[in-house]
Amino acid sequence: MSAINLHTIRLALEAKRKELLSGGSDRNEILIETAADEFDRMQQQLNREVALSNLVRESRLLRDVEAASARLANGTFGTCLQCDEEIPEKRLKAIPWAAHCVACQERIDRQRSTGEVGEAKHAGEIAA
Ligand SMILES: [Zn+2]
Repeated sequence: MSAINLHTIRLALEAKRKELLSGGSDRNEILIETAADEFDRMQQQLNREVALSNLVRESRLLRDVEAASARLANGTFGTCLQCDEEIPEKRLKAIPWAAHCVACQERIDRQRSTGEVGEAKHAGEIAA
């Protein structure tokens, strides 16, 4: 990791973290309230599902951002967690919190979409 400006990365991660913590999506949708009308109830249920999946996506992203900050601090930033290859600078500039090279990320995404759990094993490392 030489060409890439780590200070810029740090700022980008910090900004993203603040943005996520300030709560982009509407958490109020998740509040359980029951409308009198059947149709309203269905609409609420739908809104709740959308808000929940946004929340899940955001918290996953927040975790990735914080993990990237931790890797920045311990000097392992920019290395793919899966195959230990360097993550291309271009990719890190686009997604500073990327934890995997493109090939590994694609494999993970594929596993995730077919229902296999491909991320749980990293949870412990990140917490440390
Ligand atoms: Zn990789």
